[in-house]
Amino acid sequence: MRTSTDPNTEPGTHSGTDSGPLRPLRTATILAVGSELTVGETRDTNSGDLARSLSSRGVDVQRIVALPDRLAAVVQALSDALAAVDLVVTTGGLGPTPDDLTREAIAAAVAQVPAVDPDLETWLRHLFERRGLPFFGTNVKQAWLIPSAAPIPNDRGTAPGWYVERPDGRLIVALPGPPGEMRPMWEGWVLPRLTARGVGQERVTRTYRLAGIGESAVAALLGEELLRAENPTVATYARSDAVDIRISAHAERGRSPQELVDGAVDAVMATVGDHVWGRDDDTWPTVIGVHMATRGWTAALVEEGTGGSTIRLLGDAAWLASSRLLGPGDAEAPIAVLAEQARQVSGAHVGLAVRATRPGDDTQVEIAISGPWGARETRQTAFLGGSEGRRRAGLAAAAFLERYMREAPPELGGPSR
Ligand code: AMP
Ligand code: MG
Repeated sequence: MRTSTDPNTEPGTHSGTDSGPLRPLRTATILAVGSELTVGETRDTNSGDLARSLSSRGVDVQRIVALPDRLAAVVQALSDALAAVDLVVTTGGLGPTPDDLTREAIAAAVAQVPAVDPDLETWLRHLFERRGLPFFGTNVKQAWLIPSAAPIPNDRGTAPGWYVERPDGRLIVALPGPPGEMRPMWEGWVLPRLTARGVGQERVTRTYRLAGIGESAVAALLGEELLRAENPTVATYARSDAVDIRISAHAERGRSPQELVDGAVDAVMATVGDHVWGRDDDTWPTVIGVHMATRGWTAALVEEGTGGSTIRLLGDAAWLASSRLLGPGDAEAPIAVLAEQARQVSGAHVGLAVRATRPGDDTQVEIAISGPWGARETRQTAFLGGSEGRRRAGLAAAAFLERYMREAPPELGGPSR
């Protein structure tokens, strides 16, 4: 990395490359540059990818902004970000054409003058020769650098990125827009440097997965104080297979992230613990699978009118000995009889039967289980009809089976029927 020759370097401060402590990179802003984004022609996938990558390393991404190819707008956004966060990542605007203005904008924001870098120009001219393409004067822009920028090599295109260190230790990372160029440069060149420099901070995150309760009810029960807290943060997410509660914390005032998360876990479990069926990366088949494996049981499934939503949710789990899908109204038998038949026919320990019907706007779900802990039956209303109602019917069945397994007395274990 070249040493900084930033004319703005104040006496007594360090660029960070040679001496002095490096500024920790805890907060970031992501700027997506390109009018194709602000007119809605192109979806901004870069920002989400970068945000995920940074967040997973404990960096607090405070803002994601899409900007048109307008110099003043990009300069302003860069200046605002530099005043607020430790790391600014831009994508886009590094092409050779006059509307690609990110280099100009960074130069203006840090008050430096770009100049053609001879090494970069040689590399760029070779690239055009190799491809048998004419090298136009406009292309030379891609060989520009400012004194405080190091070039980020681009093996897949003609736009090198910029890695700009500020005298106060803040960083600007500029990457090209095409995801196929941006991603390998981020992962292969930028991330290793950020990691070596110390990016993010230790963060502990725990997710609880809930069923049988809606997101708004979860939020109401948890209460505003918990949901508005900044550390630990407690947030709810309505996913297709669960309502998730995500608890996350970083160290603060002598308390470890684990301590802070544990405190919130106690509050969460006390209010909605009864609805929790899984944690972190748990899915229905893995969680039910653990219960089945502990007892050495297998299950057989028969579903009617669900379009196969239960089997789609449970997948081809090893503990699922058989599954059968009936059309709506195929079986006249009561749901409990279907469950017992499924168990008898397959030789599995547990029989699960689900029937979805749609007498009105919503879906009626009948679920029965027959197994070593006796027979259970429930009747529920799933919100909405059609595929959404069928999906919720499958979820209700998985939740009913999970609860049966979780609550069955331990002495009922063992593979003999
Ligand atoms: P640029 O670096 O501005 O020349 O961007 C070139 C191309 O990259 C654009 O035409 C888009 O196809 C793509 N691109 C730019 N920004 C993004 C973004 N934020 N997300 C996904 N693709 C992008
Ligand atoms: Mg562009």
